Amino acid sequence: MKTIRDLAPERLEGRRALVRVDYNVPLGEDGEVMDPARIRASYPTLRLLLKRGARPVLLSHLGRPGGEPDDSLSLRPVARFLEEDGGRPVTFGGAPESDGALEASRELEDGEILVMENTRFHPGEKQNDREYARRLARLGDLFVNDAFAACHRAHASTVGAAEVLDPAVAGLLVEKEILALDRVRVDPEAPLVLVVGGAKIADKLPLLRSFVDHVDAILAGGGVANTLLAAGGRGMADSLVEEEALEQAREIREAAGGRLRLPGDLVVAPGPDAGDRSRVVEEDVPEGHAAFDIGPDTMDRFTAVIHESATLFWNGPMGMFEKDPFREGTDRIAGAVARATERDAFTVVGGGDSARAVQEAGHAGDVSHLSTGGGASLEYVSSGRLPALDALDDDEH
Ligand code: ADP
Ligand code: MG
Repeated sequence: MKTIRDLAPERLEGRRALVRVDYNVPLGEDGEVMDPARIRASYPTLRLLLKRGARPVLLSHLGRPGGEPDDSLSLRPVARFLEEDGGRPVTFGGAPESDGALEASRELEDGEILVMENTRFHPGEKQNDREYARRLARLGDLFVNDAFAACHRAHASTVGAAEVLDPAVAGLLVEKEILALDRVRVDPEAPLVLVVGGAKIADKLPLLRSFVDHVDAILAGGGVANTLLAAGGRGMADSLVEEEALEQAREIREAAGGRLRLPGDLVVAPGPDAGDRSRVVEEDVPEGHAAFDIGPDTMDRFTAVIHESATLFWNGPMGMFEKDPFREGTDRIAGAVARATERDAFTVVGGGDSARAVQEAGHAGDVSHLSTGGGASLEYVSSGRLPALDALDDDEH
């Protein structure tokens, strides 16, 4: 994978760099940016491009407008935020497929940034329509992908435009993500520990399969553990269990053997809002109850394994952490991962909810790498590939 750093100066100076960023940020009622983290994550790339005399033209999606314009999902307020926060002149270019947008890209001056309207206002984006991709590609002389969180989507702004433009390279955020995830994926320093939780085991099967043969320990919690426990014959009562995945869960149990660590005790309650009636059980989940968190003994066992790790990847919370009575398991894991990092383990957290849990536990700055991409990090760690990366130039190119 080639990056903007690999480009000769003349390929950037005075050229329009069409940059796919991920500005899919939450907006308030008046369109104000509620969390600027994703916008700021693009600054290293923008700074480098501007320093080398390139003229950035930014493309992003925002929310799910369903292929038609939706004022509440406009990137206009994001462009305004970028100007105020980034301290550079920013122009809003409107619909990226329009002739006005092309005109605006040609009028860009040194030091200026052009932001295009939400690519998902057009149905061609998600269809990776060729004609739409060509229209996007008109806006740049080169393509830069810095939208790591969108790299698992084969859309016009991630794949289509990259295939039209030459060169097509990665930005610094994508590079940083790939370097961190590769350290987990390729020859990780042992002991390697995988912590996996979350709601649906079906989403995590590729991850489990890719690690199962070489991992030193898999610590499973959340709904993922529920299905693995059910596959071993434990009575899970009303817990979230995926019946259709029981067979695959049995295969994972067999392949992992003793390296798969499952919860012994569980925090159970009659329902997600009945946290005041929660209790800890060591055997089958009682009738009329569901498991919503790992129990205290399991927390101790899991944190002990985490403390011994040299490399760790965590995807998926240990319980229904959105509800206070069920967040302790996830918080304890976040604390343990922070401490392991302190004593030099290389720790990566990937997954939208997992990242939020680590932030809420106050440990966002205490892990080696907090991925900006949920689905993308999961897919890359599992397979080593992402459609949008495949569309970029190779190193030797
Ligand atoms: P990520 O976004 O990090 O990949 P997931 O989306 O897979 O994580 O899982 C997060 C969701 O899993 C949360 O909404 C959480 O409430 C839910 N969850 C975790 N454990 C349980 C459980 N035991 N029962 C029901 N839901 C759970
Ligand atoms: Mg999620």
